[in-house]
Amino acid sequence: MAAGSRKKYALDLNDIIAFPDAGHMPVFPPEEKESWILLMEITADESIMRPVYAVRDTTKTRFVVALYTPNPQKDAKNFKVGHTLCITSARLHQFLDGQTGFRIEDPSTIEVLPVSMAKLWEINAGLRKRSDEGDLPDCNVCNSPSKLGCAVCKSRYCSKECQRTDWPRHKKVCAVLKALHKWNRTDWG
Ligand SMILES: [Zn+2]
Ligand SMILES: [Zn+2]
Repeated sequence: MAAGSRKKYALDLNDIIAFPDAGHMPVFPPEEKESWILLMEITADESIMRPVYAVRDTTKTRFVVALYTPNPQKDAKNFKVGHTLCITSARLHQFLDGQTGFRIEDPSTIEVLPVSMAKLWEINAGLRKRSDEGDLPDCNVCNSPSKLGCAVCKSRYCSKECQRTDWPRHKKVCAVLKALHKWNRTDWG
């Protein structure tokens, strides 16, 4: 691939249009196809019957997230304290008990990434650095020209040996890389 045709990885997780904190979400309803992602770290499991979690947004403000989806227990299976919850086009909700947070009805609007927010920022910075240095299309392990890519997240490898070497680390972050690459390809308007 010619250098000029490589798409730059330039995702900015601090862009408050794409990744607002809960206090700066768009005031007006979005245009068609316009969305934003709210990133919050899960800090406590407060479920009794229904899955309910305490979370903290990028400004360290606490909110609650309650699952009112058709299969709440199933949709909560990836919720773990210390991991990052992503909600697409979230809207704040005032619960009857006075708490403020997010009432999730559509499971397709939530995804839990199995890393802390600090780690998410660190992985994103690493991808940007590799992109800036022109190394992103090369092998993740040895920077040789790559032939194969992970089928899920498109991380590149020069050989099965390098893919195998990277697997213990990679399996923990594959879903994270997939989400970051998807967001990088998104036009946030
Ligand atoms: Zn390699
Ligand atoms: Zn992968």
